[in-house]
Amino acid sequence: MKAQNTTKSSNALINTLQCKCPRCREGKLFVSANPYKLSQTMAMKKECPVCKQPTEIEVGFYTGAAYVAYALTVALAVSIFVAYYVLIGFTFSINDNRIFGCLATAVLAIVALTPVVMRVSRSIWLSLFVSYEPEWKTSDANSYERTNPIGMEAAH
Ligand SMILES: [Zn+2]
Repeated sequence: MKAQNTTKSSNALINTLQCKCPRCREGKLFVSANPYKLSQTMAMKKECPVCKQPTEIEVGFYTGAAYVAYALTVALAVSIFVAYYVLIGFTFSINDNRIFGCLATAVLAIVALTPVVMRVSRSIWLSLFVSYEPEWKTSDANSYERTNPIGMEAAH
């Protein structure tokens, strides 16, 4: 049983980018495999179909994924500016309009990649809180407190 754990899916970075469960690195986190099926872009499974790891480990958990999405988007924009500068070039001269081509390219690429960035952000965010469990087949996933006790008290 233990020998089967060293299968193709053992690279943490690749599995995170593929939006797989950080605990078992096998189950898929999202309902639809296609991020561009926009009605289901953010639809996540309640738990990992393979190891039963909950995907939303507390209320509002994925709010923090916005920080990851922001960082990824900035990295993407910087990469596009550098690539454009190297491949096509631009200056900040008033007579050089190439900077606008660069800006348009960056905006289009960011808009086009938003569904992918949002999914990968959630995957990265979850992987920051849930670590790989080599013995996931024989040990149960943690259960999490899913309600806010302070909020519950205030309601009464
Ligand atoms: Zn899993």
